[in-house]
Amino acid sequence: MCIFCDIAAGKIPSHKLYEDDTVIAFFDVNPTSYGHCLVVPKEHTDSFLDCPPQLRDHVFEVAQQLANKLEKRLHCDGINVLSNIHEAAGQSVHHFHVHLIPRYVNDDHVTLAFGEIPPVDFDELEKKMK
Ligand code: AMP
Ligand code: ZN
Repeated sequence: MCIFCDIAAGKIPSHKLYEDDTVIAFFDVNPTSYGHCLVVPKEHTDSFLDCPPQLRDHVFEVAQQLANKLEKRLHCDGINVLSNIHEAAGQSVHHFHVHLIPRYVNDDHVTLAFGEIPPVDFDELEKKMK
């Protein structure tokens, strides 16, 4: 059990924006932008890596519906869809969840900078992934 299991079970309050038998979505308690919310399977798995396929698909189906709703209702200019895996990637709650982060041009507190690493041997990389 973890904090998102407790939210899913209704033991800890949350500001819900969606719920069905297997998935819940609620607003992030420490939002990085207006409308920042989380889509969470009720069943506990540690991360995206181990979520069963059918449930994973449903999480993303709900995420897509809510992203469209965020755009319509909050008039955001863009949205980041993000799932952190392990602490090195910024995961702090070890229960799979998808962030929906509405973006507002010149008016949010999000920094997602993709810097560049030195040149990569793509042939070697391809071999490693075969
Ligand atoms: P991550 O760092 O990807 O694991 O994201 C976890 C997110 O959960 C953070 O953005 C937290 O602000 C959020 N969070 C933690 N506890 C709660 C809570 N009780 N209700 C809503 N959001 C929460
Ligand atoms: Zn959990």
